[in-house]
Amino acid sequence: MTAKGDMYYAWSADEDLRKKGECGGAVSALLKHALESKMVDAVFAVKRGSDIYTAEPTLITNPADIAKTAGSLHCGTLLLSKLVEKYLDGAKDKKIGITVKGCDMMGILELAKRKAINLDNLVMIGVNCGGSVSPVMARQMIAEKFGVDPDKVHKEEIDKGQFIIEYEGGHKGISMDELEEAGYGRRSNCRRCKLKIPRQADIACGNWGVIGDKAGNATFVEVCSEKGAKLVDSAVAAKKLSVEAPNPKGVEIRGKTENAMYKLGDKWRRRTFDALGKNLWATIGKETGRCIKCYSCIENCPVCYPIADKLKQPSLMVKSGDVPPNPMFHLRRFAHISDSCINCGQCEELCPMDIPLAQFSHAIRVEADAAYLPKLGQSAYKN
Ligand code: FAD
Ligand code: SF4
Ligand code: SF4
Ligand code: SF4
Repeated sequence: MTAKGDMYYAWSADEDLRKKGECGGAVSALLKHALESKMVDAVFAVKRGSDIYTAEPTLITNPADIAKTAGSLHCGTLLLSKLVEKYLDGAKDKKIGITVKGCDMMGILELAKRKAINLDNLVMIGVNCGGSVSPVMARQMIAEKFGVDPDKVHKEEIDKGQFIIEYEGGHKGISMDELEEAGYGRRSNCRRCKLKIPRQADIACGNWGVIGDKAGNATFVEVCSEKGAKLVDSAVAAKKLSVEAPNPKGVEIRGKTENAMYKLGDKWRRRTFDALGKNLWATIGKETGRCIKCYSCIENCPVCYPIADKLKQPSLMVKSGDVPPNPMFHLRRFAHISDSCINCGQCEELCPMDIPLAQFSHAIRVEADAAYLPKLGQSAYKN
């Protein structure tokens, strides 16, 4: 019987899911089985939209439709947690299976703390995450650095530190380091992110540590809760999921890769926060001077809930109609989220004036952690 903490190499027993899946289709097999066995009423996952740069959220109730969500899309900038709260009534009266990256998972936990999402009704299948690229950046990077027409690309992936594309006429990979040093690559919040293996989900899945003949054909599954253990056992018993013990060398490699990713996150934190720290308030004042007070940053932040409406109220300090608003508009919001910002990047991504908001709120969060939880804060930044 599976227990919390167990690890497997896993793959779908269904050939179609195995082919369509990113690494053997274990995630799709688990979601499909959860739906078929009525462990959940619906699955909330991500499917390819009009092109490979479009990651579309989708709610599925027919198990046959799960195949449409197989595969990883690295060019979306989605955050699923806010959508669960906004459009699925916080899973208050429906059981939902959901695929989550680290930021999706943290957003869900923050909203659950605020009683906006019912965790008891969610089965969270986590995917390890090395980062995502904004669709606009992906197109620009492929045209300028790869010298390829972005519309001719039919597959993208991030593997072994490279961004790799397959296109009409060939395939090409360039190291992420090289791309990022040249100003391309992952979103800035993803560079600083240290939520690499989402262990607060029920199951964490990824390709790190899958070696030998299983490389590329199986997913490394770490079982993180009793709920996750039950789902894995049930899918194996129903012959929907095949599992075997992971290669010990693979487990070691997975640990080393995870640590290397933390170090990379620290490198970007140091670089960004040190530059910002030299002139923090002047920089915030200058950048937020472009604000048109559209409230998108507030409405899309998973942490601003449930006081978004209050933050929008004109107060004595921020007069209604003032554009740009008094810097107090932003400082009040930073104060509110300073201990909870999950560095999901939504505020920055969705700001029409390109204000680097996530950089500010994440810097403030890391500094607050360092001040109040010295050990946690130090390791979050210095290790
Ligand atoms: P599949 O059966 O193919 O299912 C994939 C699931 O991922 C589907 O449910 C789909 O809805 C969901 N999904 C696809 N795109 C997104 C998205 N943008 N946001 C949320 N959910 C999505 N693994 C690593 O070990 N190291 C990494 O660095 C790494 N980076 C990743 C980055 C991203 C953006 C994503 C989405 C995944 C990443 N993974 C990483 C996980 C890996 O690519 C596979 O998803 C995992 O091994 C499961 O493979 P599978 O064949 O079992 O999944
Ligand atoms: Fe992945 Fe972290 Fe970026 Fe979210 S913030 S997409 S978990 S790297
Ligand atoms: Fe201002 Fe940008 Fe926030 Fe809109 S999203 S209120 S422009 S900072
Ligand atoms: Fe995400 Fe920005 Fe809110 Fe932080 S402040 S949780 S980065 S939307």
